[in-house]
Amino acid sequence: MSKPTSLKRTSPFLLSGSWPDGFTASILLSDLRDACPCAHCTGEEIMGQQVFAGMKTLAPGMNELRALTPVGNYAVQASWEDGHDSGIYTWEMLRTVFEQKKLSEETLREIAQRSLH
Ligand SMILES: [Zn+2]
Repeated sequence: MSKPTSLKRTSPFLLSGSWPDGFTASILLSDLRDACPCAHCTGEEIMGQQVFAGMKTLAPGMNELRALTPVGNYAVQASWEDGHDSGIYTWEMLRTVFEQKKLSEETLREIAQRSLH
């Protein structure tokens, strides 16, 4: 899957992406964090200890994105305000999250309206 032509944080909790095939979408940063592919978040075995997915605790800042850093030409690394930065999203994973979590125009309008107040 191809690389997005743009990735922008359009509000403190929204990320917008566009792809060369014309697909554009906005998702909640919390959905991006939920999709973190790192071993810790997906519950893969870490040093012989089973960490179960779904046992994630809510840490302050965990859904606040600090930075998206390109990794080679195939992925981006997300750094979150709670210090978590082991999640590397390949372009393909990122596109899948955007396709699955795309917010409707109506939801985006509601969010925009709410943030005015
Ligand atoms: Zn993670």
